Amino acid sequence: MSIQIYIDGVFRPKEEAKVSVFDHGYLYGDGVFEGTRAYNGRIFKLQEHLERLYESARHILLDIPLSMEEMKEATLETVRRNNLHDAYIRTVVSRGAGDLGLDPRKCTRASMVIIADKISLFPQEFYDRGLEVVTAVTRQRTADTMEPRIKSLNYLNNILVKIEAAQAGVMEAIVLNTQGYVVEGSGCNIFIINKNGELITPPPYLGILEGITRNTVIEIAGQEGLTVKELPFTRHDLYISRECFLTGTAAELIPVISIDRRTVGEGIPGAVTRNLMRKFHDYVQHNGTPVYP
Ligand code: PMP
Repeated sequence: MSIQIYIDGVFRPKEEAKVSVFDHGYLYGDGVFEGTRAYNGRIFKLQEHLERLYESARHILLDIPLSMEEMKEATLETVRRNNLHDAYIRTVVSRGAGDLGLDPRKCTRASMVIIADKISLFPQEFYDRGLEVVTAVTRQRTADTMEPRIKSLNYLNNILVKIEAAQAGVMEAIVLNTQGYVVEGSGCNIFIINKNGELITPPPYLGILEGITRNTVIEIAGQEGLTVKELPFTRHDLYISRECFLTGTAAELIPVISIDRRTVGEGIPGAVTRNLMRKFHDYVQHNGTPVYP
């Protein structure tokens, strides 16, 4: 049976779930989105994801037609309708249909889509063996031009980064900001472990999307007794790091074994990374909003 998509308050089969070509999300990338995940019949950090969605919408003065409570229920119902226990959930709120001009006031009502489906970002072998990455020539958008904390439908910068990875023959690329500080991946956050065994990740003010997986890993690492620091670092710190990994809702936690063809640590997923991966998988199985009564 075809998956059921939530679209503007009703459920439609995938083939019939359509938005207008006049939707400003389509015409201009005018809208926001979230990627959330369900594990073992529970939606992981649903509240945090919805808060980020509503904050992104608030920044762009987009009125989400549902209250956060209603959105929570619509999200749970979308997973239920598709009988899923493990799922990736994509929520998209776009400005809605308007005319061919930019003016968002011409769009009378935001359109809302929730898709619950399976996702596999990287094949399993990369979780076992680790990922090779490169640093991208494309720089991060700056907060004074297009704030990276807005999870908007403008992901062209991120796509350019992904294209660079593909051109270099690897699966992912790491982005630096215009000052040369490492910020994140194309759709994930980055952590390194330095020679003192400290876990370092860029602070949000450098211009990153403050990942919910990132924040969870920081929490778990603290429980594991690791020293975690949110500090700016450069390509140099990447090259001399002992371990490196990426985090994201879709990627989860994935080890990095080479950066710009330079080996990270021993060239295999490190002990700290592997332990955090185990702890993270354990954590997501037991925490989250239950989908089924
Ligand atoms: N950075 C960017 C640019 C992203 O798109 C994502 C995915 N939402 C992340 C980081 C990771 O965030 P999260 O852990 O909340 O999925």
